[in-house]
Amino acid sequence: MNTQDIQVTLRQLPSVDRLLNDDGARELIAAYGRGPTTEALRQALDSTREDVREGAALPEVDALIERASAYLERRLAPTLRPTINAAGVIIHTNLGRAPLSRATRVAMDAVSRGYSTLEYDLDAGQRGHRTLHAERLLCELTGAESALVVNNNAGAVLLALSGLAQGHGVLISRGQLVEIGGGFRIPDVMAQSGAHLIEVGTTNRTHLQDYVKAIKAALYDPDAAAVELILRVHHSNYRIVGFAAEPTLAELVDLGREHGVPVMDDLGSGALLDTAPFGLVHEPMVQESVAAGATVVCFSGDKLLGGPQAGVIVGKAAHIDPLKSHPLARALRPDKLCLAGLQATLLHYLRDEAIEQIPVWRMIAAPLAEIETRARRWQETLYQEGIEAEITDGASTVGGGSLPGETLPTRLLALPVAHPDRLAAALREGPQPVVARIEDERLVLDPRTVLPEEEDNLLKTIENVLSQLPRKT
Ligand SMILES: *Cc1c(COP(=O)(O)O)cnc(C)c1O
Repeated sequence: MNTQDIQVTLRQLPSVDRLLNDDGARELIAAYGRGPTTEALRQALDSTREDVREGAALPEVDALIERASAYLERRLAPTLRPTINAAGVIIHTNLGRAPLSRATRVAMDAVSRGYSTLEYDLDAGQRGHRTLHAERLLCELTGAESALVVNNNAGAVLLALSGLAQGHGVLISRGQLVEIGGGFRIPDVMAQSGAHLIEVGTTNRTHLQDYVKAIKAALYDPDAAAVELILRVHHSNYRIVGFAAEPTLAELVDLGREHGVPVMDDLGSGALLDTAPFGLVHEPMVQESVAAGATVVCFSGDKLLGGPQAGVIVGKAAHIDPLKSHPLARALRPDKLCLAGLQATLLHYLRDEAIEQIPVWRMIAAPLAEIETRARRWQETLYQEGIEAEITDGASTVGGGSLPGETLPTRLLALPVAHPDRLAAALREGPQPVVARIEDERLVLDPRTVLPEEEDNLLKTIENVLSQLPRKT
């Protein structure tokens, strides 16, 4: 086209107002609102003008509307979207950790719809306490005298350290100065809380005697901060093997008693059930720390507890109750959805139905035969669509900073493609993204972490994506 033709074509483009009256645009307005649709039509016209200047022909109105629609979809689609976890990591922090039980979702939905008794005492008809919800249950389940719920466990650790040891010395084994992930490093949190870190022992071996020496050294050094707390931290996502030693919590508690020093246990994942019956090593349980006499115990709500994001502190009332009025407690307070969800999740433990009802535990407890059956069903469905997948042995992990190095035997469905990384990328792009794993240059799916109600979507996504990718020959 010459310059004159281009000018003519450009003048033939409809105006935004004209487009807004088109039926297609009306649908966009209904879906996205008038403002965003107007903006999208303007964008569509702008880029069409560019195309015309580069020689493109005058587009149909439908094509302009389609362009605006694509723009709106890109711009207004939520970035936080449900995702199918076929990667076989049960508590996958990047994928939102614990999927919630039905009862938990119902409870959260119920309080989200209207007003609630968040801080209202129905019996007295007056102000109540947000902190009460879930806390009585936590005491009952863990045997603790008192409990406090905050935003997440990082907050719980920060609050406990600030409240119990600000300006004072805190003893911790060098082997426990861990980074948990997401930049959460124990020495940094300690500094933030205003407590003074006193390292004891060595990276691989710390003995009770090291703690005794540190307490005495602080006692006789006029410049040293007095030791006000002994902190034990779960190693979380790493494991020391070989020549290693650490005193038990009970030994630390005895030592603390002898010297009048409280003991704080940051359990991280915070199991309320024993992991050993499922072929895993025994993950330290909250009840055990409470029974061993820890002054305060901190753990997450969305790791092995299997509930919403939350941080829990349980332990002695004399130490926990003052934390409830600490200024940080206000800054870290959980919202009504969290508290309603946590309460509902905890009820599963009280009713002795956690393994059946809480997804994280159902996944841990899933028998291999059941996983095999699901993998076979997927294989069969895909076969009917002309896709030949193989079933192989594999391993699922628990994740969430618990049980480092531990795996659960599983059955994987391996998909036959020449470029597994391309398939993995295509699976992530669909309307319901799927996160899979690449192993031995094959793309594999682990049924353990796929919720039963997600299966149909998963298989449809695979069929769609594979119909557009070259197969392995
Ligand atoms: C995961 C973890 C935390 C942080 O808990 P969040 O709930 O993620 O804030 C703290 N300490 C330990 C030992 C952990 O494993």
